[in-house]
Amino acid sequence: MSAKQVIVVGGNFGGLAAALELKYELADDVAVTVVSASARFLFNPSLIWLPFGKRRAGDITFPLEPTFDAHGVEFVHAEATAIDPAARTVTTSTGAEYRYDYLILATGYRNDYEAVPGLGPDGCAQSITTLADAERAGAAWRDFLDDPGPVVIGATQGASCFGAAYEFLFNMSHQLRKSKLNELTSLTFLTAEPFVGHFGIGGLPGGEKLLKMFLKKEGIAVRTGVAFEEVGGDYVRLTDGSKVKFAYSMVVPPFVGQDVVRAVPNLTDGKGYIPVEDTYRSKAYPEIYAAGIAAQVPVPWRTSVPIGIPKTGFPTESMAKVAARNVASAIKGEDPVSHKEFGEMAAVCMMDAGNNGVLILADHMLPPRKAAVMIPGPQVHAMKLAFEKYYLWKSRHGYVRLP
Ligand SMILES: Cc1cc2nc3c(=O)[nH]c(=O)nc-3n(C[C@H](O)[C@H](O)[C@H](O)COP(=O)(O)OP(=O)(O)OC[C@H]3O[C@@H](n4cnc5c(N)ncnc54)[C@H](O)[C@@H]3O)c2cc1C
Repeated sequence: MSAKQVIVVGGNFGGLAAALELKYELADDVAVTVVSASARFLFNPSLIWLPFGKRRAGDITFPLEPTFDAHGVEFVHAEATAIDPAARTVTTSTGAEYRYDYLILATGYRNDYEAVPGLGPDGCAQSITTLADAERAGAAWRDFLDDPGPVVIGATQGASCFGAAYEFLFNMSHQLRKSKLNELTSLTFLTAEPFVGHFGIGGLPGGEKLLKMFLKKEGIAVRTGVAFEEVGGDYVRLTDGSKVKFAYSMVVPPFVGQDVVRAVPNLTDGKGYIPVEDTYRSKAYPEIYAAGIAAQVPVPWRTSVPIGIPKTGFPTESMAKVAARNVASAIKGEDPVSHKEFGEMAAVCMMDAGNNGVLILADHMLPPRKAAVMIPGPQVHAMKLAFEKYYLWKSRHGYVRLP
């Protein structure tokens, strides 16, 4: 009997972990094909440094094909354009059609620029949430240095990637000081979070106080619970009618799921995220699994301005491994072996601040938590630099079972 065919769509944090974990589980008893729109792995956490010239694309990416080749995974560099769950096929931008027994979707996010007029590649605010965005934000930063003025950093209603917004904010403050512009400019943070340090995960003990202290020390003005109405050429207009002027701005938009998964009947919610069981199997289709940002995580609270939940790298890898192990058990005709709710996964995050940082550790991503701690200090900046190198090394070699 021929080996079962598993297709993984997406080859970044979730897709890489899922494909390799499945190969570790089943070796030659499974044929794994990764279909990825990107030929390279991207270590998104380092995008915060790219605009300031501290990293270039080549420093934070590596080609995926050699890694998958070395582990017996077929790699297809193409965009998946259609999924047919009845025929169990994935069609790609090259017109090729691939049949699957099981499908793992790790397609991540797309920026929802339509959420606020004036966002987007042709808009008025920069973003750092994709490589192309971060490169554009770098060109705008270089222009800004010739003609400086007020700086606005923000995260809109519906955003979830708050950690990156804070990291960019504090890196910006560090860079303004280094360029001796801090006395000449102002720095304002506009966030949809109900309080600073909510991060889309309900906050952490002492987090609000700690961040307020940092923000005050850096002279950063903050407005929380804001919703963006529009971004113009040199201003942000909020829904309360107020206007904040800028010469440079970076605004984190909301994320949504990719169109190829949204187009599958009943597969996704309104935002294009895939509702899943705690096995990461789709609630709609038993042969389809989802991991990482593509998977739906219901928001367990209401805030006056709606915000999303950040599905960061650590839980993304955990989801991918749970999904892969359960696909392996399904192939073996066994019951699911692995169960893990997103909210019960551990939270591990190093937030960088240029020459300082904060380490976040919690037993659970979402409350209730038994243990959570935030440890500030310059050692966290050093840890983040070391972790970037380690993560790229282990991923390039396909050592997905290392922590
Ligand atoms: C600026 C920034 C900073 C961050 N900082 C941190 C941090 O410090 N710590 C942390 O833990 N997390 C951080 N994150 C979050 C982390 O990057 C995500 O958790 C992670 O990228 C999620 O991985 P994923 O595989 O689900 O999605 P993605 O990384 O988005 O990967 C999805 C992949 O699927 C591919 N794809 C999409 N559509 C298709 C298609 N139709 N066909 C084929 N391929 C497709 C894409 O090209 C992409 O390669 C940060 C994110 C950003 C944007």
